[in-house]
Amino acid sequence: MSSALLVIDVQNDFCPGGALAVADGDSIVPIINAMMPEFDSIIYTQDWHPADHSSFAANHDGATPFSVTEMPYGPQVLWPTHCAQGTVGAAFHDELDLKGDLIIRKGFRTDIDSYSAFFENDHETATGLTGYLRTRGIGSVTLAGLALDFCVAYSAVDAAREGFRVTVMSEACRAIDLDGSLTKAMDDMAAAGVTIL
Ligand SMILES: [Zn+2]
Repeated sequence: MSSALLVIDVQNDFCPGGALAVADGDSIVPIINAMMPEFDSIIYTQDWHPADHSSFAANHDGATPFSVTEMPYGPQVLWPTHCAQGTVGAAFHDELDLKGDLIIRKGFRTDIDSYSAFFENDHETATGLTGYLRTRGIGSVTLAGLALDFCVAYSAVDAAREGFRVTVMSEACRAIDLDGSLTKAMDDMAAAGVTIL
């Protein structure tokens, strides 16, 4: 059974100095680079929003970043403007090794956010990653990246639901921890059968 490393959103805007910086986010880059030789496939996700994206607080009158709004698909945190398509903030961290085989861009539809590498936040709109992994004969996936309690956790839970054996390498992740989101994410991953190392 082949294995894949999923490198989640290691982009400038999620690193110190970025628009939605995760504390210490850049410290995981050398750890992730060192993990790469162990895997048959290396896949990256890249948060990739149009300027008018509905997850940006700036696109909702009077909304403040990190508040929560109700979308047709459920509650949605409103974020500072981040990872706008083609910007330096949306680029991968300079030191991330990019010799892997696939980049999945997500969050490119204006009306819906996408934390998971597998499904957008309606949990129905697929990114196609499941099909890629299956046709490559990949049965186990290991996740690393940013942020542990949002995009990494959503991706890990979806990977488990899609029938993959899933491991999250916690030392190669960093969290935002917004209103208890880290505890909830760890509980959700454990309940889904994700192994957290
Ligand atoms: Zn985003």
